[in-house]
Amino acid sequence: MSETVFASIAPATLAVRGSSQRYPVRRIFCVGKNYAAHVREMGGDPAREQPFFFAKSPAHIALSGSTVPYPPGTHNYHHEIELVVAIGKTAWRVAPERALDGIWGYGCGLDMTRRDLQAKAKEAGHPWTFAKDFENAAVLGELVPASAIGHPERGAIELKVNGEQRQHADLNNMIWSVPEIVANLSQHYHLQPGDLIYTGTPSGVGPVVPGNRLSGRIEGVGEIALSIGPAV
Ligand code: MN
Repeated sequence: MSETVFASIAPATLAVRGSSQRYPVRRIFCVGKNYAAHVREMGGDPAREQPFFFAKSPAHIALSGSTVPYPPGTHNYHHEIELVVAIGKTAWRVAPERALDGIWGYGCGLDMTRRDLQAKAKEAGHPWTFAKDFENAAVLGELVPASAIGHPERGAIELKVNGEQRQHADLNNMIWSVPEIVANLSQHYHLQPGDLIYTGTPSGVGPVVPGNRLSGRIEGVGEIALSIGPAV
């Protein structure tokens, strides 16, 4: 094997509940709008929105429990708690009825967002890269296998900032179900073990500032925590 010009970077891995093994992350996909109340708070019409996707780099993962610096280039840095799906088998052009077969497990994620840069990008018709795919923007907790918890279809999803509730909904409020999301994405990508899918956030998104402590929970799945440090 050829030597590389610099030491190669090991892929990000996530803890697995009840196991010493970790889950290696390959790609991160995110659903844009998947709870009607959130679509409305962002100025959209849920009846007319089709699912769409964006991506985050696995290099931009921050692990639950960490403290991340307030990111550069924004004055409106937002939290979005989301159920995260972890793929465990190749899924290519699967029907929704078969989509659960490809899912290895689930976790809690925070889709951290530079909301002001997102608004600018939307207005200009530009990509969301600066708004969604920046350092520490993909916060992830431990994963739990579907073999242990099944495939959650309902249950509370909530986020608190400094102990105050900001987001609260039920997983069954999703516009597009987990099987529909996997089926849709698998029309465009050969989904592979290691692929993660953030499934969208409920309403109540809002800004965080240095010193804030975020704590999230998805009933039957797990918890996630993040602290916001000073700006870099
Ligand atoms: Mn999101």
